[in-house]
Amino acid sequence: MNIPKSFMGVNRKWHVHVLTARQLRNRFAKTELNLPDPDTFFGLCVPDTACIYLNKDQHATREFLEHTFCHEMAHAMYFGLGKAEHDEQEIDALGGILHQMWTTQRGEQ
Ligand SMILES: [Zn+2]
Repeated sequence: MNIPKSFMGVNRKWHVHVLTARQLRNRFAKTELNLPDPDTFFGLCVPDTACIYLNKDQHATREFLEHTFCHEMAHAMYFGLGKAEHDEQEIDALGGILHQMWTTQRGEQ
């Protein structure tokens, strides 16, 4: 599946950054947000700046990276609905559904 550089979600433009842990660390050092150490996450959804970060170093396969992107999309959707508390299991299940729907689509109307 295609991992976009940006997309519109709930009237906001979300940016997607696929970076190594080192690149993430450098980027996070330039922000005033208190973001976690890149070694501790696969992906991160930051609603304050409408950014999704994917840690390349934590993914051995492209499919895993895509799954993480869908997981972070699910977080973005929840934030869009005004939900601040996210159940990680529910988010991951929703991410899995999004990934399946996205990767099994066929044909064009
Ligand atoms: Zn999550």
